[in-house]
Amino acid sequence: MDTINGIVNFFGSPFFRFILVLVRVFLVILWISMAYWTYRDAKSRGAMAAYWSIVALIFPVFGWLIYLVVRPHERLEDTQERELEIRAKQAALACSGTVCPACMKPVESEFLLCPYCLKRLKKACPECQHALRLNWTICPYCQTSQ
Ligand SMILES: [Zn+2]
Ligand SMILES: [Zn+2]
Repeated sequence: MDTINGIVNFFGSPFFRFILVLVRVFLVILWISMAYWTYRDAKSRGAMAAYWSIVALIFPVFGWLIYLVVRPHERLEDTQERELEIRAKQAALACSGTVCPACMKPVESEFLLCPYCLKRLKKACPECQHALRLNWTICPYCQTSQ
């Protein structure tokens, strides 16, 4: 009986009530943090931030879980970064005017092979060492036949 009394006393004790309050405060903080996290994450991904934070507030945990499932995969910064990368590549192509036919990476017109995928692009003239197209039968620089 002593143990049962002890347990009953424990659940009725101010200490236990204090723990309950702590747990509740913790849950409220967790709930608000989830909504806040959802807001920031949705904003960074270009999703409807206000809408999703309200969903996370109305449905604690579940709203957040639903958001995790349906949120856009890419962050806005990543998308922008990738676009910048593509634009830089296009600019590089525009400058040199040539791309490797195998890997589409920019190469210069004098390259004998692609530095990225090692595809043979040109052949060197045995006489004057100019870069010649593979299907040329004569060197236009020194007239050596190939
Ligand atoms: Zn290549
Ligand atoms: Zn030549």
